[in-house]
Amino acid sequence: MGQAMGQPVHQPVRLTPYLSAQIDRSAAIARQFLPDRREDDIAPAEMADPIGDIAHSPVPGIIHRYPDRVLLMPTPQCSAHCRFCFRRGLPDRPPLSDAEVAAALDYIAGHPEIFEVILSGGDPLTAPPRRLSMLLAALNRIDSIGVIRIHTRRPVIDPDRLPDAAFEAIAASQRPINIVCHINHPDELTEAVTGSLHRLRAAGADLYGQTVLLKGVNDDAAVLEMLFRAMLRHRVRPYYLHYPDLVPGTGHFRTDLTAARTIYADLKRRIGGLTLPRFMLDIPGGFGKVPADGESVHVTRDGYVTLTDPAGRAHSYPGALETPWTKG
Ligand SMILES: *Cc1c(COP(=O)(O)O)cnc(C)c1O
Ligand code: SF4
Repeated sequence: MGQAMGQPVHQPVRLTPYLSAQIDRSAAIARQFLPDRREDDIAPAEMADPIGDIAHSPVPGIIHRYPDRVLLMPTPQCSAHCRFCFRRGLPDRPPLSDAEVAAALDYIAGHPEIFEVILSGGDPLTAPPRRLSMLLAALNRIDSIGVIRIHTRRPVIDPDRLPDAAFEAIAASQRPINIVCHINHPDELTEAVTGSLHRLRAAGADLYGQTVLLKGVNDDAAVLEMLFRAMLRHRVRPYYLHYPDLVPGTGHFRTDLTAARTIYADLKRRIGGLTLPRFMLDIPGGFGKVPADGESVHVTRDGYVTLTDPAGRAHSYPGALETPWTKG
């Protein structure tokens, strides 16, 4: 916590050698990783913990919001910093200690209703390879766990430096491993990147993609069409398209929700069902994800938005009004 209302959140620039070369080649990549002075504009609706993770953390490193699946976050670190990162504004913390990892695994083993463990972060593929193989092996020993998921961006931002031991750890898992890779623009699918994705698949992982809808990067049905087709061509199945969370200092990345829904409706007319990800919005406060194109979202004519969570409770959504900070 610790972030005072309205205070700019300083996130240092962090790039990989690979990305340093890519930002000269692609404006869409540069916008995602180079700082912008508009990061100092904090809208009143922006929260340090926009999706309410802190409220659902029973032990360090675990977020248990949905009964049958948990997030396990071995490290808060990533090989580069996306400027719109949802972790911006959350307290800095070191990777989990050995004792915290043991406690997180005990929590999972003690909750047999958990079917799926999602390694998230930060980027779990930046954890030391020995830690990754230890975690995968430990999860394989818990009978109630059916599948393991890894949320990562490393194949896209640091494709040349994924350690061999990470591929070996994935190959050694008896439980299916689903890798959900964060990819936002067709420019990101270079040969180096598709090569690292192919290697993950060869190690036995099934590949999915998640994309954040970002103003000035991909808020265009034609760009998204190109992106999702390119993903499918490389055997990455588009899973979620996220409406951006209310992260402090990221208003210049948010397309107005009504315009975003129009883009998605257009996209839906252009591409087939396997190519189309679901369009999701995370309700602030930890109430869960809902389809952003569906009936859970109600937009009044004057631009106010009400969201209905999976339990049927209504929440007003402060981020969607046409305001100076969403106009950018
Ligand atoms: C998004 C999320 C999940 C995964 O949800 P899916 O809809 O299965 O992708 C799990 N736990 C938390 C806390 C999440 O935010
Ligand atoms: S890859 Fe995800 S967790 Fe890492 S900096 Fe980007 S948005 Fe944040």
